[in-house]
Amino acid sequence: MNYFTNEHDMFRESLRTFLNKEVKGNIEKWESNQKIPKEIWKKMGDQGFLGLCYPEKYGGSGLDFFFDVILFEEMSKMNSGGFVITQQVVQCMSSPYILKYGSEFLKNKYLPGIISGELIGCIGITEPDTGSDVKNIKTRAEDKGDYFLLNGSKTFITNGMYGDFVVTVVKTDPNNGTKGISLIVIDLNSKGINRTKINKLGWHSSDTAEISFDNVKVPKENLVGEKGKGFYYLMNGLQLERLCFVPSCIGAMEYAMSESIKYMKQRKSFGKTIDKFQVLRHKIASLSSEIESVKVFGYYCCELYNKNEYDVKLCSMAKLLATELHEKVSTECLQFFGGNGFSEEYPMARMYRDSRVGTIGAGTSEIMKEIISKIVLEETEYKEIKS
Ligand SMILES: Cc1cc2nc3c(=O)[nH]c(=O)nc-3n(C[C@H](O)[C@H](O)[C@H](O)COP(=O)(O)OP(=O)(O)OC[C@H]3O[C@@H](n4cnc5c(N)ncnc54)[C@H](O)[C@@H]3O)c2cc1C
Repeated sequence: MNYFTNEHDMFRESLRTFLNKEVKGNIEKWESNQKIPKEIWKKMGDQGFLGLCYPEKYGGSGLDFFFDVILFEEMSKMNSGGFVITQQVVQCMSSPYILKYGSEFLKNKYLPGIISGELIGCIGITEPDTGSDVKNIKTRAEDKGDYFLLNGSKTFITNGMYGDFVVTVVKTDPNNGTKGISLIVIDLNSKGINRTKINKLGWHSSDTAEISFDNVKVPKENLVGEKGKGFYYLMNGLQLERLCFVPSCIGAMEYAMSESIKYMKQRKSFGKTIDKFQVLRHKIASLSSEIESVKVFGYYCCELYNKNEYDVKLCSMAKLLATELHEKVSTECLQFFGGNGFSEEYPMARMYRDSRVGTIGAGTSEIMKEIISKIVLEETEYKEIKS
């Protein structure tokens, strides 16, 4: 089944042209500086490459999800996981909570900026003492009448250093389990916020931070949706967060394969180019087959999302399969390059580093398997919570 129309193809072409002109030549610099200049997001916004699925009312393009699929596939072909995740967090992992559950005030305050590329958002779930076990977060937002008073800390927050706001998971009623969890938008320039950069194995161009909140006063209107519903909003939103890994893994894997094949066709060993060795040819055949099958399944899941169908089982499976295959493809493709695979002069070293986080972020592989096994073994049902 083909999910892409002529409009999608034209969009892909113009995005590719833009990325080759404005991004490709800068990636090395952004990776070594561990920072992406904000101007590039503004340029992407000006070209209409951001806010693709957001309503026109807020400056978006009101397009279908396959435009975002193209966006993340093509961005991934720049071979910098950090470049891709920066906007995935903004477009698909933080701002959708504002769009889906937020007040008109919050929508007008934040959405035009994330669509124009002028604002950078973050999602704050993980804390130093808990990640997978979200309901045990400790960050506290006390209702003080006119405002919430925030204390606690979040860690591994993508865009945490240079972000403008963070959609934060907080406890508004610590004795009420998941019903005591809410989502609050926090302006990252607020008094009482301290941010510390985290040095990472990969995703070097993406900044990641620990953010602490020390008596931060947050206006009441920054509450997303209803108090006590944050956990349910999050469980809904995580499906999109996980689905995003499908296009970014597909783009990265296709890039790895095409770079490997190019290399194999010119690298000689024992008097012939290495693409003539059957053992390597078969590896290419196996990897291509696996990538194609994840792509077909992943696109099917994207189409379900596109049709507003909520399927926790399939989204979790797609995230699990895409990220695990990406890690495998990075390892195998690095091997095709021999010693050069280990060198920073060639593309595979960075991809190898960057692919490692896929099975950790947005819910680990073990957590994906926990969700899938509950559905398969106990027929647990996960239902969507409407706004
Ligand atoms: C580069 C990077 C960027 C990130 N960006 C963000 C971000 O923007 N916002 C954000 O909120 N978080 C972010 N994270 C955090 C990420 O989502 C968490 O690291 C992840 O959810 C795992 O949580 P944890 O690190 O606390 O591990 P833990 O939950 O402590 O898990 C440790 C190990 O135990 C396993 N485990 C835990 N529970 C179970 C179980 N029930 N069954 C089987 N195994 C289990 C896990 O799979 C893992 O292997 C980021 C992480 C990284 C590395």
